[in-house]
Amino acid sequence: MAARPTNLRVNGERLWQSLMAMAEIGKTPKGGVNRPAASDLDRDSRDRFVAWCRDAGLAVRIDRVGNIFARRGGRDDTLPPIVAGSHLDTQPTGGKYDGAYGVLAAFEVVRTLDDVGIETLSPIEVVVWTNEEGGRFSPACTGSGVFAGVFELDYARGRVDRDGKTLGAELARIGYAGPDQVGGGPVGAYFEAHIEQGPILEMERKTIGVVTGAQGVRWYDVVLDGQAAHAGTTPMNRRRDALQGGAELVMAIDALAHRHAPQAVSTIGVLDVAPSSRNTIPGRVSFTVDLRHPDAGVLAAMDREFRSAVAAVAERRKLGSSIEEVWNFPPPVFDPACVGAVREAARALDFSSREIVSGAAHDACYMARIAPTAMVFVPCADGISHNEIESATPVDLAAGCDVLLGAILARAGVL
Ligand SMILES: [Zn+2]
Repeated sequence: MAARPTNLRVNGERLWQSLMAMAEIGKTPKGGVNRPAASDLDRDSRDRFVAWCRDAGLAVRIDRVGNIFARRGGRDDTLPPIVAGSHLDTQPTGGKYDGAYGVLAAFEVVRTLDDVGIETLSPIEVVVWTNEEGGRFSPACTGSGVFAGVFELDYARGRVDRDGKTLGAELARIGYAGPDQVGGGPVGAYFEAHIEQGPILEMERKTIGVVTGAQGVRWYDVVLDGQAAHAGTTPMNRRRDALQGGAELVMAIDALAHRHAPQAVSTIGVLDVAPSSRNTIPGRVSFTVDLRHPDAGVLAAMDREFRSAVAAVAERRKLGSSIEEVWNFPPPVFDPACVGAVREAARALDFSSREIVSGAAHDACYMARIAPTAMVFVPCADGISHNEIESATPVDLAAGCDVLLGAILARAGVL
């Protein structure tokens, strides 16, 4: 095997043009993109991608949950493919780069290899995952989740939007309920390029984020039961005020994340007070809790501290309490060799870089369960994403694509 061409660069201008052409589909007046999963606009973006892939001579296939795979053959086509991509659906107030960048960067890698006539040992597949955003159909990362065996196909296809339409029926309607089995075969490695969607790279003036993993997430519904009673006639020492207990827990859950700084975060996003009357002591409080940390051990400690805080407040204030855990997403850890390939590609091209943990979930988080996986982050302006003003520079986007190219070549093998 010949030495890998470590200084090979993608065509950044062509990448930018394809991003801008894709952003025309579902564009919003403020410069963003609104392309819900399995909508007519999603179909248009898929059609455009598939047309480009066919023009480039790639073999396109579509699986039963609508994931698209565009394949560039390798010297040994029996080897597991090196897969790279992301998603084309967006949030209702989405931007031009979230998702589309990962897909079109992977496609640009393939085009660059064609330009210079490099053949790889393993085949390379560019993937578009279905319904990553979860904005129209919940849960998010549906296509990659089925591929990785996290969700059953029938469950995924039966997800319902607000109008009662199922993902399966909508995929069939737009022509993307494909014939292929979902997953099953081995994947040599999976790479995903993405804008950071946070402020760290820009703040530290780094071009490349070498993503080592993502945060684990635990979601809970908490209910505190006291006693509703007259606000004027009930002495303070006889009250079982559920909101006072809730207030203590709001503070305790905030303090808990500060104790595990800097990586821990905790959020109470919903709080309901019942009966919610000016002159009645709150008899019941219910609230949501969102705890996140990239280390499973620390996240488990946060879970224990949260539960003991609820128990202590409930006992002291003589409140009933219940905690229902509604989601437990263990922190994905990316493959050291794939992460190393990203780090080495950035180093070989002399880009400034730092290791980073993804604050958001990505298709790569599910792929990490079944294949060696890593991600490449590039900065986005002010760390803003899921917003129409989402912005990234052509130079940074090309740099991330160069790194993606280097990492893919390292895993695919060059002849
Ligand atoms: Zn995304």
